[in-house]
Amino acid sequence: MTIFLCARCGEALTADLAALPAVPDAPDESQRDPETRRLPSTVPAGHYAVETEPWGGPYVPQDNQDDPKPCQPRGNCYCTDDGFVTSAGPRNTIVIHPDDAPTLRPLPNWENSSGCCGPAGYHGPNRACPCGNRLATLAADCYTPYELHLDPVRVTPVEG
Ligand SMILES: [Zn+2]
Ligand SMILES: [Zn+2]
Repeated sequence: MTIFLCARCGEALTADLAALPAVPDAPDESQRDPETRRLPSTVPAGHYAVETEPWGGPYVPQDNQDDPKPCQPRGNCYCTDDGFVTSAGPRNTIVIHPDDAPTLRPLPNWENSSGCCGPAGYHGPNRACPCGNRLATLAADCYTPYELHLDPVRVTPVEG
């Protein structure tokens, strides 16, 4: 069991979470909530999993623009002014249920939180510790999975 602390101020950000061996598949689209337009959380409450592939911003153009791949695990094809892009974000982000880090808050002026029905999570960290440390990215849009990713460099795991 593991508690994740802010690496800057030492505050506990999560309860005591149990490790999953891998990030689960995102729930099927049929489970999307008709009101919030969110899928159920990829990671169940009380758990965490490590995403070993790059996830989140920044994004870089894909080599083969004629055969685009999803921009990241459980993601969609994402097209910017540069064409179809792929994540060049950090590896080993810690994926948790968004409700399991209740003190995190949006950045001032909702920086990096743009999206359709919620933040897409495509623009870099969009959630911070109350001390201001920008340590997490929330994906909660109507075409994304529902995931909170903690930046492994900006949080400290401790045994619960
Ligand atoms: Zn902090
Ligand atoms: Zn939407």
